[in-house]
Amino acid sequence: SSWWRNVEPAPKDYILGVTEAFLADRSPDKVNVGVGAYRDDKGKPVVLECVREAERRIMGSFNMEYLPMGGNATMIEESLKLAYGEKSDLIKDKRIAAIQTLSGTGACRIFADFQNRFLIPDHLQIYFPAPTWSTHHCIWKDAHVPQRSYHYYHPESKGLDFGAMMGDIKNAPKGSIFLLHACAHNPTGVDPTEEQWREISQQFKMNGHFAFFDVAYQGLASGNPEKDAKAIRIFLEDGHPIGCAQSYAKNMGLYGQRVGCLSVVCEDEKQAVAVKSQLQQVARPMYSNPPVHGALVVSTILGDPNLKNLWLGEVKGMADRIIGMRTALRENLEKLGSPLSWEHITNQIGMFCYSGMTPEQVDRLTKEYHIYMTRNGRISMAGVTTGNVGYLANAIHEVTR
Ligand code: PLP
Repeated sequence: SSWWRNVEPAPKDYILGVTEAFLADRSPDKVNVGVGAYRDDKGKPVVLECVREAERRIMGSFNMEYLPMGGNATMIEESLKLAYGEKSDLIKDKRIAAIQTLSGTGACRIFADFQNRFLIPDHLQIYFPAPTWSTHHCIWKDAHVPQRSYHYYHPESKGLDFGAMMGDIKNAPKGSIFLLHACAHNPTGVDPTEEQWREISQQFKMNGHFAFFDVAYQGLASGNPEKDAKAIRIFLEDGHPIGCAQSYAKNMGLYGQRVGCLSVVCEDEKQAVAVKSQLQQVARPMYSNPPVHGALVVSTILGDPNLKNLWLGEVKGMADRIIGMRTALRENLEKLGSPLSWEHITNQIGMFCYSGMTPEQVDRLTKEYHIYMTRNGRISMAGVTTGNVGYLANAIHEVTR
């Protein structure tokens, strides 16, 4: 109609474009290492057994009433235990304001809007690592929070630019808000070491910065969710009042269920009650309250010791397969006699490998070898299988020699 005459098509989502091109390709050799979702060794999507069992248990046993505005209380409590630790005093003392969110994206968005509502203009900004998950930029832009960046990835070493990162933390205005990837940094796969996290935490302390952790891959980095919470726990030991955006998309394979948790540590219970009520207030005019099913799956799994153990085994299985594919890809490249160093493939961790390939090299992979990935050279290790790793290594070798 005439009302919408000025509407131009939105730019295509770049990553979805990669998937579309992959689907349209008729080559039997085609490989998709663009998508950020876990695949099994046959390249197929996975539903975890713990999820299937939880679904069997809850089937027919719950009604379809609205959840409270804050969401499923058991799911929230279990999520807090996962991130902050089973025995966290913050949980015991009710100092954490937390709500169920529409997965990790929703948690980030509610936090960004909360920042916008309650921070004075001097503090209204967020620091992202360079680079970061591209959606972070879109979320905080729509929430009208100005963005800054801090050094993170070092292109030559394909590792962490720790010195420059520490410099940026030191030089940021006191009391700045920083987004940190808790583990398995997307898109680089580069995480600080435990010792570096300790130094980062100390520097945050000296500058009075606030750490907001994006926790999208807990368990999928090392295979152990406790180990993957190390950065968070270090900040907690140092007494930081952190925030967390948790997602169950990747570590429980609940992508389309949209289950997550946003939490903000407060000074005391009274402040936590106030903050929680305001987080709910942000969500209310957007979607009112969160959906029932996925949260019930999560609370059923995490609330039952046997099901939780099953999950721990399965998340370790996913992480181990990815770690195994890193070794295989590197070994294949070395066997082909590539003169380049591919050490970073195994040094990096989590779902993604920042290969260091140029956009032109990626274009050649796609055109000549039917291999689909983003032009920043990011390989989704979850798309690599024993069946395609040799082919992938050979193609990478050919375009980088
Ligand atoms: N944060 C990071 C760094 C991610 O990579 C992702 C997913 O790709 C998310 C958050 C959130 O994903 P979801 O909204 O599906 O939980």
